[in-house]
Amino acid sequence: MANETGLAVSSRLAPADGKSAFPFDNRYARLPERFYARLEPTPVAAPRLLRLNEALACELGLDPAHLATPEGIAVLAGNRVAPGSEPIALAYAGHQFGNFVPQLGDGRAILLGEVIDRAGRRRDIQLKGSGPTPFSRRGDGRAAVGPVLREYIVSEAMAALGIPTTRSLAAVATGEPVFRETALPGAVLTRVASSHVRVGTFQFFAARGDGEALRLLADHVIDRHYPEARERPDPYRALFEAVIARQAALVARWMLVGFIHGVMNTDNCSVAGETIDYGPCAFMDTYDPRTVFSSIDQGGRYAYANQPRICHWNLARLGETLLPLLSDDDDKALAMANDSLASFQSLYGGALIAGMRRKLGLFTEEDEDAGLAQGFLDALAKGQADFTLAFRALDPDSDEAARPLFGDAASYDAWVVRWRERLAREPEQAAGRRAAMHAANPAYIPRNHRVEAALAAAIERDDYAPFEELVEVLSRPYEAREAFAAYADPPRPEERVSQTFCGT
Ligand code: AMP
Ligand code: MG
Repeated sequence: MANETGLAVSSRLAPADGKSAFPFDNRYARLPERFYARLEPTPVAAPRLLRLNEALACELGLDPAHLATPEGIAVLAGNRVAPGSEPIALAYAGHQFGNFVPQLGDGRAILLGEVIDRAGRRRDIQLKGSGPTPFSRRGDGRAAVGPVLREYIVSEAMAALGIPTTRSLAAVATGEPVFRETALPGAVLTRVASSHVRVGTFQFFAARGDGEALRLLADHVIDRHYPEARERPDPYRALFEAVIARQAALVARWMLVGFIHGVMNTDNCSVAGETIDYGPCAFMDTYDPRTVFSSIDQGGRYAYANQPRICHWNLARLGETLLPLLSDDDDKALAMANDSLASFQSLYGGALIAGMRRKLGLFTEEDEDAGLAQGFLDALAKGQADFTLAFRALDPDSDEAARPLFGDAASYDAWVVRWRERLAREPEQAAGRRAAMHAANPAYIPRNHRVEAALAAAIERDDYAPFEELVEVLSRPYEAREAFAAYADPPRPEERVSQTFCGT
């Protein structure tokens, strides 16, 4: 998999001003060669910067002005390898829709390296759509402008919502077509992640019976994400439990905003607990727990309501890979893993009800709160109300905004009596309740019709204004802004988007 270094023509040039665009400090590339393939991105014809995330660049300790220069753009397009970069495509496996594939890997992504951000956190800088790799199978290694902008919009929206996620640093048009059903303009996304280690990365080595690699990988993940596990008597079990806790909290956050990932394969499940791989993901408009958007998810495996169960399933697959690290005694290892896995339900349930209390303006806890929250969801379903809008419209003192959102107002009326009775048992009518509710219930989410409209304008008319405005609106999702009021609206019937596509 590895190619010899030094034998090929290299595009490694020092920048004219002697400044490196990225102060790389790479750890993953120190792991054994069987963890990845070393290769450089494939240059593209005519890089054009579509979008640079200046705030994120600053957070990473990078100079946005430098990134926007032709040299910086060349790095973001994969045309130039910055000093200190050790580009690699990562090996991983994964269960796709329940079927195990022993080798997937970065088929169209290349990790440029890692940087330490301003807060001291290690972050991966990866190009997505940067050309074929040894893991490409039949794919072209490329990405189209549409899916790249989509990932940019949704991942940045998730970050602004406060949900752990990979980030988007830049989108660069390649000036080359990619061929899907039709020819589409190509692009490269620069993705930033806490790491790109997936459940599928563990599966890759487990499937090969490579216990040494599993241990090295587990140690790498502990050092990088869960250093506290090292202090525990059983660090690998502590690692497993820490991943369970983060994934449970993550999926609860998705459920609380109506996010549907769409492809929760184990290769798209980050051990750092970030949302990763934005393909056919989408936010639900009208509340329906069975909602599925992905065109390829015909069985509804990854429907909204299934997400916690699938997350639990994915974590079971992670547990299987860790068995040899837990104990030399197989039965003991299995018992330990299952014991740890059993915590998922209560961790998930706890995170969900805590979030629901915030959404309903409850500062105290009562046993019946879960029933109250479920009652609201049932009313939403019955009234075919918009999930985001209905939570946002809830007002302890008035039904004016919320009630008209329910097609069947009787279900709202019955529920709201219960809610007000519950609020009356709160220790005080806290003045901050409405503000606290607004901080938990976004006004703006990346609604499909808005996302599709922004992509269409960019691709069909080279008009990036709708994309830019949407990104701006979604950067402060909890703050209603007069000029952007229409972005809170659900789609009109003719605007409704019922399917999304992977776009790979
Ligand atoms: P995804 O469904 O995007 O999570 O990708 C699943 C697998 O397919 C991963 O191994 C990807 O690297 C690979 N893949 C997706 N799109 C392409 C492409 N255009 N070229 C090569 N590999 C791809
Ligand atoms: Mg993937």
